[in-house]
Amino acid sequence: MKITADFPGGNIIVDEIKDNNIYLHQDLRTTTIDWFYWYFEVLQPSKGEHNFSFTKSPAIGVRGPAVSLDKGRTWNWLGDNKHILNGFMYDFTGDEESVRFSFAMPYQESHLKEFIDANIHNPLFKHLELGKTKKGRSIDLITLGDIYNSDVIVLTARSHCCEMMASYVLEGVIESILKNSSYLQDHAFFIVPFLDKDGVEDGDQGKSRAPHDHNRDFEDNSIYPSIIALKKRINELGAERFIGYIDFHCLYMAGYQNEHIYFVGSESPKIAEAQMEIGRMLEKTYTILPFEARGYLPFGESWNVGAGVKYQTGSSWATNNLPNVKLATTIEFPYANALGTPVTQKSAKSFGVKFGNVITSFFQ
Ligand SMILES: [Zn+2]
Repeated sequence: MKITADFPGGNIIVDEIKDNNIYLHQDLRTTTIDWFYWYFEVLQPSKGEHNFSFTKSPAIGVRGPAVSLDKGRTWNWLGDNKHILNGFMYDFTGDEESVRFSFAMPYQESHLKEFIDANIHNPLFKHLELGKTKKGRSIDLITLGDIYNSDVIVLTARSHCCEMMASYVLEGVIESILKNSSYLQDHAFFIVPFLDKDGVEDGDQGKSRAPHDHNRDFEDNSIYPSIIALKKRINELGAERFIGYIDFHCLYMAGYQNEHIYFVGSESPKIAEAQMEIGRMLEKTYTILPFEARGYLPFGESWNVGAGVKYQTGSSWATNNLPNVKLATTIEFPYANALGTPVTQKSAKSFGVKFGNVITSFFQ
């Protein structure tokens, strides 16, 4: 039996293996706070029950770890088995070549590629390059419709690279908008699915990355190529044509305010009103993952107190720099549990399809 994290998104440090007891922990790397992302593979496991125990901080969500038997393409929740403190038990058949485990359901460049391949023949869908990351990777840009001659809405995700469940929602949003070809006659979308692609592929936490993370990089002295290029391209295309900006995130692992979907209240009263309006529209739409408008987190409450004087988030940058923006917002998704309903690859994407319909109704 071998444990490895040597693949896209991989993240683990093995402390010790004693018979069927494996002690390990998540690799924080350049993250300045404690966080909980990890993703590893067991190769040729021996038959029988094995106990995996995390030796540092909490690293198991409310539905246990996610398990993949096809090298990370599809995932299921193992389920909560709390009898192992901060860990889980897995009963291998002995016939598996590979079993992967993660905090949730990783969405890598390979998932995005599969999605792009399925849509690339649609003339309304374009896959372009926004620029290169610090490590030389291509920063994907997807456009829907004609970004040169329409009102434009920006969609971004993974400024905190570990927040992978948001990517399935984004896929659903894109899919539903593509079906609305009449809407795309005079509206367009500018989509950056991985704002921190190096972090996504390297398997970093990304949240509170030193010296600051990608969602604290929107001031004039931005340091990350994706953020620099995003702001530059928007200004080249004409900031006044951008009417919407939605940034997709995931929450903390579990607990209060981390197990429902919500919009993060803007400091701007006008934008806050727009957030509540789209929230009411979303609540009226049947979604497989329940959404309640009252889950809204107003500015000034709980953790939503701004990025600090030195920093600016993507949605606050859009609020301050896009003169005709009607809505600039962060939307937060739970990793595993939305008001009692399991968040999965399928349910997250299905929620995204409905959210996409609400977006096109909102930005008429
Ligand atoms: Zn985030």
